[in-house]
Parts: sequence; structure tokens; C-alpha cells
Amino acid sequence: MSGLMFGIWEQCIDLALEAYNAGSIGIAAVIIDANGNVVAAGRNQLKDSLVSCSAIRMTSIAHAEINALNNLPWDKQKVRGLTLYTTVEPCPMCIGAIAMSRIRRVVVGSADPYAGSVHLLEIDDYLRQKGIAVEFTQGKVEEICFALHYLSLRHYHKPEHPVFRALQARYPAYARKLDDLLNSSFLPHKELDEAQLMQAVDGEHGELGSG
Ligand SMILES: [Zn+2]
Repeated sequence: MSGLMFGIWEQCIDLALEAYNAGSIGIAAVIIDANGNVVAAGRNQLKDSLVSCSAIRMTSIAHAEINALNNLPWDKQKVRGLTLYTTVEPCPMCIGAIAMSRIRRVVVGSADPYAGSVHLLEIDDYLRQKGIAVEFTQGKVEEICFALHYLSLRHYHKPEHPVFRALQARYPAYARKLDDLLNSSFLPHKELDEAQLMQAVDGEHGELGSG
């Protein structure tokens, strides 16, 4: 995102925004090596068939982390020191796929108290011996990652869906802000540009109605 120094998150958020605008869930993942070089990236493509960085599309396994792992070049598959950044806490499928790779550090943009499954890394004997470290990010990056996840789901599910209770309980202030924007129609329902995304997160939504 231009003008914002989020480091590796910049690429993740750009890709998550691409997923959101394509009609999939706004989630993306980037893998870096021990030197900090990006070696693979992927995004959620559950609902779109656009040619992007992701090869797995239009299927229930077309999650961001699966696509990033699928894009990891053969000569990088066995190296140590890989870190996976993902905008949303991995689901059971993705945490399993990460465990089967050489990735031993996962950095999470925003928590997913509904489908997120990093707790499996502690309660399952096989996964625990993998020694995968998980870090959760906070602040502006967390809020942007949450916003793209939450808004995607709002386009997918009815408001009664239990995922919203879970997300609203975990991030009450962030969720309320986005619900207010959706209810006031300040936030476009289908597409967002970077500026609109930042305005939604910053709560400066006075100009969004024109979009
Ligand atoms: Zn997943």
C-alpha cells in the first residue's frame, strides 16, 4: 500500500484486498525466507477464477495459505527458517498444511475466533513436536486485516451467522465501526480501493459516500 510502511504486510494487504475485490474472502499469505526475501505468496480464491498468484481456485481448499504453500518453489521447500505471514489466523486445514511444510514461524494479522486453529499446535501431540511459533500482530495492521476478513464475510453470510458473534466478541470496537459504515452505506458493498479501506479503518468515512 503506497505511502505506508508495513513491510511485508504491505504485500499481504494488497493481495488480500485483491481477493476481496475479486469476490473471494479478503485473506492473503506471504512466505519469506531467513533473509527476509519473499519466496511465495497466495490469496484466497474460493469464489473467483481470476489469474492471480494463486493456482488453486474455485474450490473449498482455495485458501490463502494453501495457495502460498503451493507456490513455494521446489528449491525452497526444504530450507529452514521460513516464515509465513497470513492476514487471518489459519483454519484447521491450513495449520495442518503449514505443519507439513518446513515453515516453523507463523505471523498472524488478525485472530479468527470462529475457524482459527493455531491452538491445535499445542493440544495435538504430532503438531506440538513441530515446534511452530505463532505471533499475533496488533494495531493498524490487525485492524486492516480484520476489516477485510469481516467485510468479506458480511457479503457472504446472513448477519445471524455464528461467525459474527465470534468476531464481534473478539474485536467489538473494530466490528462496530464496520457495521456502522455498512449500515450507513458509507462503505461500498462490493469494491474498495486502498484509500477507502484506510478511511474505513481510520473511521474517517465522511467522503466514502461519493465512491
Ligand atoms: Zn485455511
